[in-house]
Amino acid sequence: MSLIPFSPPRIDDEIINEVTAALKSGWITTGPRTKQFEKDLSAYNGNPNTLCLNSATAGLEIMLRWFGVKEGDEVILPAYTYSATANVVMHCGAKPVLVDVDPVDFNIDPAKVKAAITTRTKVIMPVDIAGLPCRYDELNAIVKSPEITALFKAEGERQQQLGRIMILSDAAHSLGGTYKGKKTGNQADVTVYSFHAVKNLTTAEGGAIALNFPAPFNNEDIYKYLCIFTLHGQNKDALAKMQKGNWKYDIIEAGYKCNMTDLMAAIGLVELRRYENDTLPRRKAICNYYHQTLTSYPWAELPLLKDDQRETSYHLYQLRIKGITEEQRDAIIQKIFDEDVSVNVHFIPLPRLSFYKNLGYDINNYPVTYDNFSREISLPIFYDLSQEQLKRVTDAVIHSVEAVMSNA
Ligand SMILES: *Cc1c(COP(=O)(O)O)cnc(C)c1O
Repeated sequence: MSLIPFSPPRIDDEIINEVTAALKSGWITTGPRTKQFEKDLSAYNGNPNTLCLNSATAGLEIMLRWFGVKEGDEVILPAYTYSATANVVMHCGAKPVLVDVDPVDFNIDPAKVKAAITTRTKVIMPVDIAGLPCRYDELNAIVKSPEITALFKAEGERQQQLGRIMILSDAAHSLGGTYKGKKTGNQADVTVYSFHAVKNLTTAEGGAIALNFPAPFNNEDIYKYLCIFTLHGQNKDALAKMQKGNWKYDIIEAGYKCNMTDLMAAIGLVELRRYENDTLPRRKAICNYYHQTLTSYPWAELPLLKDDQRETSYHLYQLRIKGITEEQRDAIIQKIFDEDVSVNVHFIPLPRLSFYKNLGYDINNYPVTYDNFSREISLPIFYDLSQEQLKRVTDAVIHSVEAVMSNA
């Protein structure tokens, strides 16, 4: 039997034809396809403006820098996330302030966010783990409350204009997830998506910044500025410079270089066209199969996919096994792989990674994060996962859990 992979991309003729068309069009870097993909993303999510970049990581860092985050500042984020969320804070010279997560849904705990706010806090970065949106009403209420705005020390024009902590959502997992009936991209000041190869919607590598700033900000103006800021600070992009006689340009600041190419956007255009009515229903059906098959096992703690306010984008199926240790979890994973099924763990908590551990972050301060991590196994989800393969996945999980538990 061949190994069932964890999340291979869906590359078919439709994708190949669109990429080929982009290659043959004579325009391969940022151009008409990227601009169209940005418009399609805004139309899909229903937020004012979207800027596409070459990764979510770049998008998160660009927004921290746009807001003026620097040395001496603090940014609050969950201990339970991928390292990119914290790394970008380090790049800006600021301090990642890690807080523990919720025992039910893996997401940052708003009460712990509130307790972690100081006069240095500039940004909160909630992460929609597995695709389930965070509790944004609570997070928004915290940053807008008079007791918290009184702590905010605005530096620079943008911080003064916002007058409070910025909410920068790491939505690397949650394109298509909903909160109170609205797509992600509409709850935070700004929301950043990832189109990395393993994500729900891919452009091989890629990401997008969905702008949603309140008045008096003008999201269109921010979008135009960010186009320049993410392209060397150059006041004309390559396409504009191509226009007859339009060769002169200026550099208005030392900008970054993280634009999306039209080859990436070609993949994204096809992926987005079939996302809502094809990709998401398939991913949901896979998660529902796991739910139905595993629910009768007393050791299975099934992930929250939906409640009265939220629905996941079905990015990850985060199974937890009740009452096991980390070592037992690792043994179960080994046995699952022995049955030629790929699984994963999302995520190794930041305080367990050498770099953050060496900075002094201690996993003992994040007991829920550790508990969630130590019992977690992510099951495969991808479009072409067949019914026969799905049964192999759940059979392997059931055999492996029962074998390890009977050894205990
Ligand atoms: C994948 C991921 C990122 C980074 O996305 P890139 O597009 O690879 O930069 C950030 N945060 C989380 C939670 C992720 O899973």
